[in-house]
Amino acid sequence: MPNLITEELAFERLLAGGVVAVPTETVYGLACLAESADAVARVFKIKNRPSDNPLICHFHSVSQISAYVQPLSETEKILFDHFSPGPLSLLLRLNENSPLYPATRSGRTVVVRIPAHPVFLSLLKKINKPIAAPSANTSGRYSAVNTQMVLEDVGALTDGILEGGECVNGIESTIVEVSDKQVTILRPGVIGPDDLQDVLQSNEIDVPVRYGTTEQTTPGTKYKHYAPKTKIREITSPDQFSSDKRVVFISTDEYTSRIQNVHTLSLGSLQYPRQIASALYQTMFKLDQLHADEALIFLPEINNKHWQITIRNRLNKMLSSS
Ligand code: AMP
Ligand code: MG
Repeated sequence: MPNLITEELAFERLLAGGVVAVPTETVYGLACLAESADAVARVFKIKNRPSDNPLICHFHSVSQISAYVQPLSETEKILFDHFSPGPLSLLLRLNENSPLYPATRSGRTVVVRIPAHPVFLSLLKKINKPIAAPSANTSGRYSAVNTQMVLEDVGALTDGILEGGECVNGIESTIVEVSDKQVTILRPGVIGPDDLQDVLQSNEIDVPVRYGTTEQTTPGTKYKHYAPKTKIREITSPDQFSSDKRVVFISTDEYTSRIQNVHTLSLGSLQYPRQIASALYQTMFKLDQLHADEALIFLPEINNKHWQITIRNRLNKMLSSS
């Protein structure tokens, strides 16, 4: 792949204000210096991202984060302690006149994460500056979970792609906001409410973990997102699919295996909800490569509340019209 670059080159290009696609344990990110207005502007341009949608910022440690935000609460410290590095992002209040303003769109908050992917984490340590890195896809499209997917989408517009293999989770981080009264999940993701609640309880923090209401969602969640280029519609029963050579049927193993003589794509077995989540974007990528007229998706109820909510969240955004 012509656009693949070494870690050394990624380091040099990022530091010089470039834009590089980087691997994380959730999905690939489109990275740049969070404090550079020019670099951030390029990320917005490459993604064709609405300008009111702030960029998530990545750090190598809690002490690095602390220099940019208001003092962390006990609960925030505990969550960082337990889940970082890893796929948990926190919405925090910025210090006055924060240098992160290009990435945060001059807002008072920032969403931060310390990623666990060894390649990206080592790059963050070396650069020692906050790195903004939204998902490496055109706005509205599914996230990329390998370098081939990055290349087929925004890759050629970047200053290089850093190889880090297939993303182990294949779906985005959980974003939470912490208050004295509760921990609110603003975007469902890899880490579920029970994981969070268990950690709080074992540290004698007696606050509930709740999913946020729609008014509380992060700006990005109001837009259509995660969609393939191919037209896709949801059906509420597998019987609504009638065989047509130009239409692809997407579902889980339990249902795709029943259908003969048409193109089917399986998200995996209902027995493994986590794998369904991590197969979602790759399945949409495979769909686009088939150049079909249309796809119909049937998603059966998943017998695990956290994964049901997370996968539904992505699917609803994918199918929404705005
Ligand atoms: P992505 O842009 O795909 O990486 O997803 C990151 C999500 O975090 C988007 O939905 C953003 O809207 C959200 N986000 C990033 N920064 C902030 C912030 N300062 N306040 C609220 N939401 C944010
Ligand atoms: Mg995204």
